[in-house]
Amino acid sequence: MPAKTVLVTGASRGIGKAIALRFAKEDYNVVINCVRSQTLLAETEAEIRAIQSARHGAKQGVGSGQDSPAGCLSFLCDVGDMAACEKLMAQIRERFGRLDILVNNAGISHIGLLQDMSPGEWDRIIRTNLTSLFNLCRLTVPDMVAGKSGKIINISSVWGQRGASCEVAYSASKGAVNAFTKALAKELAPSNIQVNAVACGAIDTEMNHFLDAGELQSLTDEIPAGRLGTPEEAADLVFYLAQENAYLTGQIIGLDGGWI
Ligand code: NAP
Repeated sequence: MPAKTVLVTGASRGIGKAIALRFAKEDYNVVINCVRSQTLLAETEAEIRAIQSARHGAKQGVGSGQDSPAGCLSFLCDVGDMAACEKLMAQIRERFGRLDILVNNAGISHIGLLQDMSPGEWDRIIRTNLTSLFNLCRLTVPDMVAGKSGKIINISSVWGQRGASCEVAYSASKGAVNAFTKALAKELAPSNIQVNAVACGAIDTEMNHFLDAGELQSLTDEIPAGRLGTPEEAADLVFYLAQENAYLTGQIIGLDGGWI
C-alpha cells in the first residue's frame, strides 16, 4: 500500500518538528514547512530522512516487500499567503499525489497591551494563526472530498477558550481556530473527513523562552501536573487523532496538565 502523506506547517522547531518526526516513525511521506528558519528546516528534513531510511532498512531485512522508503519534502513559505500555499500544494501533488493529513501547526504569539499593538502586528497574528487554516483547508479539502477520506488537525491554545491578558490578538485568533474547527467538522463529516483541534496549555518550546526563571516557576506552580508539557506529548496526541476513528470530529481537545 502506498504511504500516506502528511503536511505539518511550522515544523522547523517546537511542536511542529515533534509532530513531523512522529509521523516519520510510522512510514508517512512527510511534508514540512516554515517561513524563515531554512537551516532548522533542513535539519528537521535530515532527521526525518534518517528515520525513514532506518525503518526502510529494517523492513527490507524482514522482507516486507515495500521497495522504497517514504519521502520528505520541505517548503519554505508564509502559510498566511494564499499564493505561496498554492505553490506548496502544487509541489505536494506533483511529488506525492493527494494529501491525507493536514496539521495546521504554524503559529505566532504577541505579548503586550492591546492598546499598544499596531494594525500590522494584529494582521500578522490573524494571517499566521487563522488565515493559514483557510488557505490550506481550501486547497486541500477538494481532494479529500473526492477521496472520501482525510484528517485535519489544528493546533490551538487554552487561551482560545479562556482568553489571556496581554494576549488578546493571540486569544482571539485561537478562539477563531476553535470555531473554524467545529464548523468545518460539520461541513466535512458527510465526506468522512474529520476535523479536530488540540488546545495546548504551556508546552516547553521557544514560544515560552521569553519567560525568566521566576515567571516560569510561577507558571509551573499553576499547573496541576507540576510541569510544562513536552512537544512529544503534543505530537503523540496529534498522531492519535490522525488514526482511524471516523466518529471523533469537531472536538477541541485540551492538553494542559489539568491547568484550565
Ligand atoms: P515555535 O517553537 O515558536 O514554532 C513556531 C513554528 O511556526 C516555527 O516553525 C515557525 O517557523 C513557524 N511559523 C511561524 N510563522 C509562520 C508562517 N507565517 N508560515 C509558516 N510557518 C510559520 O512555536 P510552538 O510552541 O512549537 O507552537 C506551535 C503551535 O502550537 C502554534 O500554533 C502555537 O500557537 C501553539 N501553541 C503553543 C503553546 C506553547 O506553550 N508552546 C501553547 C499553546 C499553543 P520559523 O522558524 O521560520 O519562524
